[in-house]
Amino acid sequence: MSYEMSLKAMIEHQIVARGVRDPRVLEALSRVPRHLFVPPSLRSQAYEDYPLSIGYGQTISQPYIVALMTEALDVQKDHKVLEIGTGSGYQAAILSLLASMVFTIERIEPLWKQAKENLKDYPHVVCLLGDGYQGWRDEAPFDRILLTAAPPHLPRSLLEQVKIGGKIVAPVGVGYQRLIRYTRTGEKHWQEEYLCDVIFVPMVPSPEYTKDSR
Ligand code: SAH
Repeated sequence: MSYEMSLKAMIEHQIVARGVRDPRVLEALSRVPRHLFVPPSLRSQAYEDYPLSIGYGQTISQPYIVALMTEALDVQKDHKVLEIGTGSGYQAAILSLLASMVFTIERIEPLWKQAKENLKDYPHVVCLLGDGYQGWRDEAPFDRILLTAAPPHLPRSLLEQVKIGGKIVAPVGVGYQRLIRYTRTGEKHWQEEYLCDVIFVPMVPSPEYTKDSR
């Protein structure tokens, strides 16, 4: 089966069938060949309904979860988006087709390098090797922030780097997590909505990066 057919089947059976309907999200998913973001030995499973290992104990999320989170983030064409947890770069590629610019942070150097390679055909993504707990001060504020690694609590720095009116979607908690959407309603006010339960890798504090130039 060609990858186009597998991709089409993935979108229909895993994503539309479970209720993701935003045409912009479906269109973005249909334009990114997911097999190019997974290790070569796992390419034949790239369109299956589960997360896959990308090395270093990390995973590329299940396609449905990528779709669900992307839809929940409600990204618009003129948005500046921050992603924490670049991993393979797949989620960043999807976001970059919906936004004006995506800034993404990864803490594991070989994954950061591989993601930059995977994303070479996506001009609207910038990858940083750094600690997501600090966000990206030089580029803040952002219209949208997406976390694909789970902190025990949403870090203050990230709450403060989203614009008023902006949204953050994040898995929050230890073990299994609650997927939460935060909307910043004022200088010191954020509204929280519970979306569903999820399982993500933990967001690991990485103080070794505190000296970088952000
Ligand atoms: N969005 C990815 C999946 C990410 S898996 C994709 O589409 O493939 C979560 C990633 O978050 C892992 O690569 C992990 O190394 C990274 N991560 C964990 N803690 C982090 C931190 N403090 N800062 C930046 N990245 C972090």
